[in-house]
Amino acid sequence: MAEAAAALCIGAIADDLTGATDLALMLSRGGMRVKQVVGAPESDIDLQGADAVVVSLKSRTIPAEDAVGQSIAAAKALLDVGARQLFFKYCSTFDSTDDGNIGPVIEALLELLGEKRTLACPAFPTNKRTVYKGHLFVGDQLLSDSSMKDHPLTPMRDSNLVRVLARQMRLPVSLVPIETVRAGIDVLRAALQAIEGVAIVDALEDEDLRTIGAAAQTFRLVTGGSGVALGLPNNFGIERRCARTFALKAPHGRAVVLAGSCSAATRRQIQTALKSGMPGLKLDPLAIARGATAVEDAAAFALATPGNAIPIIYASDAPEAVAESQRVLGRERAGAVVEDFLSELSAELVERGFCRMIVAGGESSGAVIKGLGVRSLQVGPEIDPGVPWMQATSGGHAVALALKSGNFGADDIFMKAWEKLE
Ligand code: ADP
Repeated sequence: MAEAAAALCIGAIADDLTGATDLALMLSRGGMRVKQVVGAPESDIDLQGADAVVVSLKSRTIPAEDAVGQSIAAAKALLDVGARQLFFKYCSTFDSTDDGNIGPVIEALLELLGEKRTLACPAFPTNKRTVYKGHLFVGDQLLSDSSMKDHPLTPMRDSNLVRVLARQMRLPVSLVPIETVRAGIDVLRAALQAIEGVAIVDALEDEDLRTIGAAAQTFRLVTGGSGVALGLPNNFGIERRCARTFALKAPHGRAVVLAGSCSAATRRQIQTALKSGMPGLKLDPLAIARGATAVEDAAAFALATPGNAIPIIYASDAPEAVAESQRVLGRERAGAVVEDFLSELSAELVERGFCRMIVAGGESSGAVIKGLGVRSLQVGPEIDPGVPWMQATSGGHAVALALKSGNFGADDIFMKAWEKLE
């Protein structure tokens, strides 16, 4: 067990790495001292002085019983070090299939805590994720009309979150509509106390998230995207005015971008970077699977680019191409082939002096962190909403990492991100 933090307010469990980062950043902005750890915290990790600990798992798309097992182990470790409230963080686009893990993990955490109710709110208005009448919108589109309908691992074809979550769990799922949220903290609190099971809560603006955060003060478990964490630090007497800013002394060395996300945003970002002259290597999962492209080939490509160039190595592709590699390899194997490749490649590149790295994709980032053997991360300056630089060590090398959820970031993120490093 990790050494107890003096007054740990929030113990958070995130189902992927970029989600953990995004949440760590949100809590930091609210004034909390945040430690991010990879996997349930072990005894040698120092959590002293932390107001919040965010555990990142890679549990979004693993079998539900494994996700439950890992989440419960993390929750127990966080409760052991004194966490007063647990937060279960999933994606703001609710990435999960009908066999997915959000429902089962919520049920298991409620049971662990001996609680009967919680809320679920993935809204993140800053990144244009809003929930209205229980329907999740991505910008102007329903989730089911957005590019998330073609996600390689978790295609989202139903935007009604009450329905989506109800298919995943035994406990009842209900809706707390925006009118109740806008009626204020007391009304919302009373409504939340009256529900049985899980309530999907509407939210359209940051102010709604602050109301929800305040109303959830007495909940031992809160679940949602990082947005709903906006209102939580205040519950512990921590105010935004003392929001922490971070400088990050980045190691000097070469920079590289690795992309495994096939999201529309990441594919735009890659095209923007390639057009600006950044050298790119496109990976084909089928070629990797039949042994025609090896990790050494990709590392050699990166090393052969001029010293001041920033190579982009990407498997990201359009839905039709993803469907074709999935048809040949199967969905899971296609994903694993790319993830394993990026994982090994990242370690190889760090060994060869690449110590500044952007990774695009949640699962892809998890794979890279595993490859690098990183166990804890310190949050640094934010590049775009939800995407900070972070400092870590890998095999004795200091590395600066930006782990980007596929859909996050401006189109020029791969070009401008480096300016934030000292
Ligand atoms: P996002 O953050 O956009 O969800 P992820 O990295 O979480 O991105 O998920 C993308 C998944 O797609 C990963 O499992 C990755 O290995 C897989 N993938 C990447 N490129 C391809 C491709 N060309 N064909 C099939 N699967 C792919």
